[in-house]
Amino acid sequence: MGSLQLKSVRKSFGSVDVLKGIDLDVKDGEFVIFVGPSGCGKSTLLRIIAGLDDATSGSITIDGAEVVSVPPAKRGIAMVFQSYALYPHLSVKDNMGLGLKQAGTPKAEIDKRIDRASAMLSLEKYLARRPAELSGGQRQRVAIGRAIVREPKLFLFDEPLSNLDAALRVNTRLEIARLHRELKATMIYVTHDQVEAMTLADKIVVLDAGVVQQVGSPMELYNRPANLFVAGFIGSPG
Ligand code: ADP
Ligand code: MG
Repeated sequence: MGSLQLKSVRKSFGSVDVLKGIDLDVKDGEFVIFVGPSGCGKSTLLRIIAGLDDATSGSITIDGAEVVSVPPAKRGIAMVFQSYALYPHLSVKDNMGLGLKQAGTPKAEIDKRIDRASAMLSLEKYLARRPAELSGGQRQRVAIGRAIVREPKLFLFDEPLSNLDAALRVNTRLEIARLHRELKATMIYVTHDQVEAMTLADKIVVLDAGVVQQVGSPMELYNRPANLFVAGFIGSPG
């Protein structure tokens, strides 16, 4: 549960073609990383997968079912943003539980899931705090916890570590790798950090100029880059 297929996904803003026909197969449980220069459409593609934005054309299937007309809340997807996107007036616990509450999940079930997620992320002591009383790393862990409690088939991460300092970036990266192993969930992750891409990915998708330049394992891309753009981006073996 959690495979994704994109077929000829296109997106234009006015006369600007941002995505020019993206094809991609993501297997259940895979960790797929999108890399590419700023402005190449990575966030747009994640938003389209999540249903927060519409593709101009193309098909998106999750576990074999077309989702183009399925609303975001019904896609089985949870997204984690670079800016955390937490509610400042709600406690950590209420931030984590809000989506489930709105979906009508019983309180006992919400509490159980929050207990489990906060234990996974070492957030138990912070459940009563507001986001302003947390460090950047803790806030991002709350945002990840909020995604986990929804038990999505697919996690989408949009540059989740970009606002963290170097030490926290490493910690949080290791934590995301551990969650991927424990949850056995499909994760799609955007970054411009080469180290994140090389260490986290089963498969890296290199985007540029609205098209997929290459798809492969970190070692495949490193050893056999399809073109100079990929070589420059991944770091050629020299
Ligand atoms: P990335 O995440 O790879 O940096 P984005 O997906 O944010 O890139 O943006 C891709 C391109 O689409 C950029 O040129 C951006 O200016 C444009 N774009 C994104 N969202 C909109 C929008 N809502 N309206 C118009 N142009 C947009
Ligand atoms: Mg972006």
